[in-house]
Amino acid sequence: MKELNEHIVCCLCAGYFIDATTITECLHTFCKSCIVKYLQTSKYCPMCNTKIHETQPLLNLKLDRVMQDIVYKLVPGLQENEEKRIREFYQSRGLDRVAQLGGEDPVGGDPMGLPYSSFDHSRAHYFRYDEHVSLCLEKQSTGKDKNKAVLQQKYVRCSVRAQVRHLRRVLCHRLGLALQHVQLLFEGEVLPDHMTMKQLWLSHWFGKPAPLLLHYSVKEKRR
Ligand SMILES: [Zn+2]
Ligand SMILES: [Zn+2]
Repeated sequence: MKELNEHIVCCLCAGYFIDATTITECLHTFCKSCIVKYLQTSKYCPMCNTKIHETQPLLNLKLDRVMQDIVYKLVPGLQENEEKRIREFYQSRGLDRVAQLGGEDPVGGDPMGLPYSSFDHSRAHYFRYDEHVSLCLEKQSTGKDKNKAVLQQKYVRCSVRAQVRHLRRVLCHRLGLALQHVQLLFEGEVLPDHMTMKQLWLSHWFGKPAPLLLHYSVKEKRR
């Protein structure tokens, strides 16, 4: 289980991502509060030591709603717990959160006043507001080892904003493999990590029936 969790666990607090936040320079992901706190005393990524930004590292952080959605899908109960925690937090301070849940977007939504995109907590996790795409993930046949590392559930529905890197994480998690061992392919071509499902669908699957067929390949572990 430990190995499976590495893709959805924050290395700073050892818990599942909460408000998953990704460094745009190296694409490493942390909880928002963990990385913001960490960057008060450092300009480097805690995982790979990449310099994030010369003067204002927070500028190169992005809330990663797709990743958060993945975590919530993979960890039963986490979303409910987190929402309960937030509710209790607001209640304990006698604050009314109902206003935030209304139709209008709160202005300057981030209570920490950070210079990156504001985060509407009331809505961010609900991907039902997003367009979705249905995918079928087939293992690329390699002849031998047919039954090794094969997904039990090959149909996946995800946000059109999901990127190849998000899907690779899901695959790794479900197959119990390290990230570098899994690749996603479309018609035999390896897909780049930053490509979104929307781009892929529009450029290669427009007008065709769902699901969009993708292949994955698993590199053998070297000894
Ligand atoms: Zn954390
Ligand atoms: Zn990094």
